[in-house]
Amino acid sequence: MDVSFWNREIETADRSSLEALQIQRLKEVVSYALKTSFYQKRLSKVGIGSPEDIKSLNDLKKIPFSVKDDLRQNYPKGMLAVDMEKVVRVHSSSGTTGIPTVIYYTREDVGRWTDLLSRGIIATGATAKDIFQNMMSYGLFTGGLGMHYGAERVGMTVIPVGGGNTQRQLQIMRDFRTTVLHITPSYLLHIHQCMPEYNIKPRDLFLKKAYLGAEPYSEPTRLKLQELYGIDIYNSYGLSEMNGPGVAFECVYKNDLHVWEDGYIVEIINPTTGEILPDGEKGEVVLTNLIRHALPLIRYRTRDLAFIHTEPCPCGRTHRRISRILGRTDDMLIINGVNVFPSQIEEVLMSIPEVGTNYMIHLATREGLDRLTVKVELYQKLFTGDLSQLDSLKGRIKDKLRASITINAHIELHEPGFLPAFEGKGKRVVDERQKL
Ligand code: AMP
Ligand code: ZN
Repeated sequence: MDVSFWNREIETADRSSLEALQIQRLKEVVSYALKTSFYQKRLSKVGIGSPEDIKSLNDLKKIPFSVKDDLRQNYPKGMLAVDMEKVVRVHSSSGTTGIPTVIYYTREDVGRWTDLLSRGIIATGATAKDIFQNMMSYGLFTGGLGMHYGAERVGMTVIPVGGGNTQRQLQIMRDFRTTVLHITPSYLLHIHQCMPEYNIKPRDLFLKKAYLGAEPYSEPTRLKLQELYGIDIYNSYGLSEMNGPGVAFECVYKNDLHVWEDGYIVEIINPTTGEILPDGEKGEVVLTNLIRHALPLIRYRTRDLAFIHTEPCPCGRTHRRISRILGRTDDMLIINGVNVFPSQIEEVLMSIPEVGTNYMIHLATREGLDRLTVKVELYQKLFTGDLSQLDSLKGRIKDKLRASITINAHIELHEPGFLPAFEGKGKRVVDERQKL
């Protein structure tokens, strides 16, 4: 396997040099954090009044966690650590509660962030020769502009098309001979379903790779999309609070994501007790941003669930890998008392070859009990066969789901195009249960 580096020295640095760099950068971040009254209060409580009070990475563990609500309560500028004059970029994530979280960047912050994105791109084997179609939305969302800068710095030809307008996307892919896509898994699934309508087949295109992120997806989904399009798919993870995409990226081995540890300190904690878990154990990802000064964020609880791999990666990078995101602490469903993550349902569905590219999870209350309905689109060709075939498929989906989540789901089979389509992050769970 061909392995290329963006910055070989840092990407293959030994643990002690990596940690030395982390400490140096953490001190810088703490010095900025201390300029905000939010962190002054928080850090003084644990005896940190100056960056020199950080002597080792162990000192980080004294600092309490930050959460999304801290950002909301300090909206819009309470956590800003530099003069507005120094800020060159603002991003924001809207969330569901109304008050947005706002992230600020200095020119240097954008530069350091961009560098990590270029690193991820090169790690997948892409080069300056590639034609990069950026299908994540531009604007306040970090996915579009963030990756745009990284790809441009690599020297790729960047097509900043943003999300939506499938016909135009396909036309651009064909006419500009796009080789690399940046897109959500939901939208890539949807596009495949639209291709017949525009009379385009994957083999009419020149695609080689796609970077998929912004929402969870399972390995069966990756495999399915790789097969449908005949491309390599790489997982890309990030969140606006940690700058945006580029926190962790898969390398050519596609064996989960290297966290760029000179940019972020990663910890995995027990989401209930806050206890730090050893490598290999699944828990909530906590990240410290080491490269942003305009808005420091230390030990941020992402609510994303993952584990750290213990084996080294054959690519030679020393930055530890996290698993794909296995769910979120806040997306767990409790169905008649059983804990279920939507990702478990997705994994089952996408491992069944007849299941198409779209599904929805619906919850309702019937006679006092929760009722789970899984609505699945099938490939068109299956609707030309006889009904008994569809009935047996329904039974197979039901059985596989029961084996995985121990729940008897009601299964609905639909023709392609029946369910709502997603051109960005998907919203696949509709919970209409009566609240007690
Ligand atoms: P935002 O701040 O709007 O960019 O959303 C960030 C969130 O999107 C993360 O906290 C994750 O829950 C999710 N996310 C981003 N990238 C991935 C990925 N590769 N796999 C799973 N979830 C992801
Ligand atoms: Zn690797």
